[in-house]
Amino acid sequence: MQDLNSHLESLRARYRKYFFEVAENVDLQIQALKPPELSSDVFGRFANPSLGRNWQNKVLNYLCSSLLQTQKEKLSKMNSLRNSSKCIGCGACCRFACSEFSPDELAQKAQNGDNYASQFLSVFVPYDNISTVRKIFPEYLDLLIQNGEKKYYFYHCPKVTADNKCPEYDSRPQICKDFPDNPLSFLPLSCGFTSWKLQSEDICLKLNAETEVLNFYIAKIKETQK
Ligand code: SF4
Ligand code: SF4
Repeated sequence: MQDLNSHLESLRARYRKYFFEVAENVDLQIQALKPPELSSDVFGRFANPSLGRNWQNKVLNYLCSSLLQTQKEKLSKMNSLRNSSKCIGCGACCRFACSEFSPDELAQKAQNGDNYASQFLSVFVPYDNISTVRKIFPEYLDLLIQNGEKKYYFYHCPKVTADNKCPEYDSRPQICKDFPDNPLSFLPLSCGFTSWKLQSEDICLKLNAETEVLNFYIAKIKETQK
């Protein structure tokens, strides 16, 4: 893989490209459903019932079914690709967990019913100093420092053994079983899921672009119909 900074730039550029492609395609589909008598765009305020309102409803149907379809197809493709990769037991994800939340903030979230925060705290404890973190995944630490406006907190699991074994492997928490769950996250360079990440990135970028564009249209049309 390129260095992480170039890779991040590449992800951003590919996302922009997909976003504009999707927006253009959705607009074409909306125009194809438009009755020729209408001059307004799809965000017009139409009486109910009216030709315009009927068009908006057809567009909403198209947008909602596309949203469901796109999510289903892409998640299934990413899952099937993920099944062809496997953990090679390098232990890096047990020794390097990063969160934008401090231990106190996570505890507060867990108390408020956040299941992820609760699981996270049941597994990970904070590092005392950043020098140990740097030894595990220096490239990622540098990326966060260079690009991050946010503060990050680093954690590790005290249970992982020196030879990278999980003493509770069969009953490990779901967050451990699910890692990695997002191909757009940066994985430790030693991770056995790297090829899955690289194969799935574009699928995930397209999915995110489609979801953003479709949700924008759905929300805006619903707003005009209030
Ligand atoms: S519980 Fe096991 S799998 Fe999860 S972080 Fe700890 S050692 Fe790793
Ligand atoms: S970083 Fe990847 S390969 Fe290494 S232990 Fe975690 S999931 Fe397995």
